[in-house]
Amino acid sequence: MDKRRYNSFVGFLKEKYGCRLQKLVVDAGFSCPNRDGTLSTGGCTYCDNAAFHPNYSTPDKSITRQLDEGIEFHQGRYRSVTKYLAYFQAYSNTYGTLEKMRRVYEEALAHKDVVGIVVGTRPDCIDAAKLDYLRELSQDKVVIVEYGIESCHDDTLRRINRGHTFEQARRAVELTAEKGIMQGAHFIFGLPGETREMMMDMAPAINALPLDTVKFHQLQIIKGTAMEREFREKREDFVTFTLEGYIDFFVDFLERLRPDLRIERFAGEVPPRFVNETPWGLVRNPQLLEMLEKRLEERDTWQGRLL
Ligand code: SF4
Repeated sequence: MDKRRYNSFVGFLKEKYGCRLQKLVVDAGFSCPNRDGTLSTGGCTYCDNAAFHPNYSTPDKSITRQLDEGIEFHQGRYRSVTKYLAYFQAYSNTYGTLEKMRRVYEEALAHKDVVGIVVGTRPDCIDAAKLDYLRELSQDKVVIVEYGIESCHDDTLRRINRGHTFEQARRAVELTAEKGIMQGAHFIFGLPGETREMMMDMAPAINALPLDTVKFHQLQIIKGTAMEREFREKREDFVTFTLEGYIDFFVDFLERLRPDLRIERFAGEVPPRFVNETPWGLVRNPQLLEMLEKRLEERDTWQGRLL
């Protein structure tokens, strides 16, 4: 646990690598089985990959060029950053051949300022051979696999058309842990059909997974997605949060999370292209973190207090 009342991933990286590591998003042109027709063509009902893509990362540019442009973009913002992690974020970055994985990951790792890779993927797009390769890479580089799990409830996973079950996610995470690779997972609060109690029940389910890091955010409904339609038609099926309400909800959740889990993110910023019923304003991540720390202080509580 770092000096905060929660175990932050940024603090962990700083402690371990002696400097702030900045993630640079790269798009290596992978696809997704939930988009290319293997599982479905519609994708997850909330998905719009363009929504989480910076302009500099597009698959028509080489990985090296995306990294160079990403570094240039970030250099003005974070002067303390000297090293970077290439973040393979778009779609499912292990959904392809081992040869392709080798080519793109190794191009990223050959960049002089890149010390590691973060590989975002689905739990059903991994196997022992791919994990063996990632383990090999992790011998002298930072390698983090990041699984989109989103919910621990199968009814929800079906409703949002994830195309995998929670059991599949559990198996992928366990296999990754057996291989000794650092891994994280992503979850969303506020998915349709989930009550606050169901969201709170995810804490013990997450605690039981051999994860190193976790990322959460409130449901962000993107204009033009299937989720937007559902939200308009079945508004009563969605729990939405005010900013203060979400912070308090997350503090309750944090009290139930095991203390060694590193929190990478607990909420998302809400750019104007998202549908937002309870507007949070243009609140940025540092402000969100400040609010969380203040609330933990006020309530004199901390990650794992109720365990
Ligand atoms: S798995 Fe990811 S890329 Fe694929 S449809 Fe779902 S959100 Fe989109």
